[in-house]
Amino acid sequence: MFKAKILTIFPEVFPGFLGYSLTGRALKDGLWTLETVNIRDYAFDKHGSVDDTPCGGGAGMIMRPDVLGSAIEHNYQSGKIVYMSPKGRPLTQAKAHELSKLEELTVICGRFEGIDERVLEEYDVEEISIGDYVLTGGEQAAMIMLDAVVRLLPGVLGNAASTENESFETGLLEYPQYTRPIEWKGRKVPDILLSGHHENIAKWQREQALQITKQRRPDLLKKA
Ligand code: SAM
Repeated sequence: MFKAKILTIFPEVFPGFLGYSLTGRALKDGLWTLETVNIRDYAFDKHGSVDDTPCGGGAGMIMRPDVLGSAIEHNYQSGKIVYMSPKGRPLTQAKAHELSKLEELTVICGRFEGIDERVLEEYDVEEISIGDYVLTGGEQAAMIMLDAVVRLLPGVLGNAASTENESFETGLLEYPQYTRPIEWKGRKVPDILLSGHHENIAKWQREQALQITKQRRPDLLKKA
């Protein structure tokens, strides 16, 4: 069973949106577990200080290696440790699949200007980014990563086939989707989707997926 352990100074924000919908139901059904660790509980003073000024000067504060290290050492058991970081390798569907195979995933959520570099070296931590922009904290990023991972766990999605054609799974973005009503504001669902001809529909969907990927993400097309 997949166990997520979150190291954060805001444990109260979890499970947040992970407690809803498919991920929430899976959590309730015991298909995965979520444990939060308050990094402040490992501070060495009565104020629960976890940060200090950057060596060499500069703006903001940095999370201390001794406090964070103590939180890791008291709670890490096995598996991988990741740090949500704008400097990390991008989170991809392939990475989500890789993480979903782990028994245990420990996630460090940064705050302030981030964490002391030595923590990354000492505990062989992998840095993962959710995109080329800067958030105020790693908690939001951790939830997004866990959402992508948990929906891949066995039994979480009712219909296992439902991830197969999703964006990125085939190396392409997904084709356009439609539902009823067949005509809405003068716009009709493409005739091919109403034909009942499964082979032609599959061909059309593949062509659409290729076209959309070519227009929006030509970088993906090279790999597909
Ligand atoms: N000074 C850091 C830098 O320039 O790379 C940014 C620190 S950011 C204000 C605070 C925390 O938010 C980071 O330690 C990280 O945990 C989280 N964070 C911000 N942007 C992120 C992103 N794109 N992906 C993952 N985590 C992010």
